[in-house]
Amino acid sequence: MKKMFCRCTFVAVCIFVLVFAGFSTFGHKAFADGGLTKIADNVYSYVDVKHGSSANSFGANAGIIVGKDGIIVIDTLTSAKEAQRFISDIRKVSDKPVKYVINTHYHLDHSFGNAEFEKMGAIIISHESDKKNLQNNGETALKNAGAYGLSESDMEGTKLAYPALTFTDRMYITLDSQRVELIYPGSSHTNGSIIVYLPDKKILFAGDILFTGYHPFLAEGDIGSWTKALDFIMSMDTDVIIPGHGPVSGKRDLQEMKDYLSIFDLKATELSAQSNDVEHIASEIKKMIPARPEGEFLIKSNIQMKYLKK
Ligand SMILES: [Zn+2]
Repeated sequence: MKKMFCRCTFVAVCIFVLVFAGFSTFGHKAFADGGLTKIADNVYSYVDVKHGSSANSFGANAGIIVGKDGIIVIDTLTSAKEAQRFISDIRKVSDKPVKYVINTHYHLDHSFGNAEFEKMGAIIISHESDKKNLQNNGETALKNAGAYGLSESDMEGTKLAYPALTFTDRMYITLDSQRVELIYPGSSHTNGSIIVYLPDKKILFAGDILFTGYHPFLAEGDIGSWTKALDFIMSMDTDVIIPGHGPVSGKRDLQEMKDYLSIFDLKATELSAQSNDVEHIASEIKKMIPARPEGEFLIKSNIQMKYLKK
């Protein structure tokens, strides 16, 4: 039952992105205009915040790192069609083979395009726990794609592909001379969410550990551990952080995310012990959390699913 609620919340996230992604005005620039955005030499983000919909993976972010002999892809979007859109944009910047796919976590908007890359010979990598999460929940989510606002046409040809390589703490890939570090910062957005770090370029792909400008999806999160993960990322030497949703970000966005989570958890725990009135709890929490322009309805969803349904 709990899983079902989690999935419902995820639907809510998708719908929220669908409605609001087109109106994002916050934070740093570097928006993609229908393609990859160059972040540094050989590193591109695939950030699409305009008119999020089932046709663009609800604005989920992805990225690539290009080497002399191959490409590493970070996250694969929601479907076969979406992965093909990504692949066709990748081909505008490089004709190298895709060697590895890294899934920052198992949620459908970050991993359901995996099979298209596997067909090309890519090796899929994730944290061990999120491989299990995908194995346990993926087929059900795919069968129920309609509940996420995804039509049969959106999902046509989509098959799941599971990671072939997993790790529990850290994994390093060397692409030419580029060191790519896959790091598990502890349980956060999911219990297997990871970050991808390029130390020499000070670039970090945070997956959904960081939502910038958007109210986050919290239902599967371990908040105490999540804030520690954000502290850990803050301690790293980074100039550019690509969040799971929202524009290219920086350290102040990490701090705001941490403040948001800490205040939300404290108040939701306190108020849900006194009342089941979600409207009241939400209005009290809203007065205290950092203002975010997008997806306000998630305040109520997160309270319902995480704090009132135990
Ligand atoms: Zn997610």
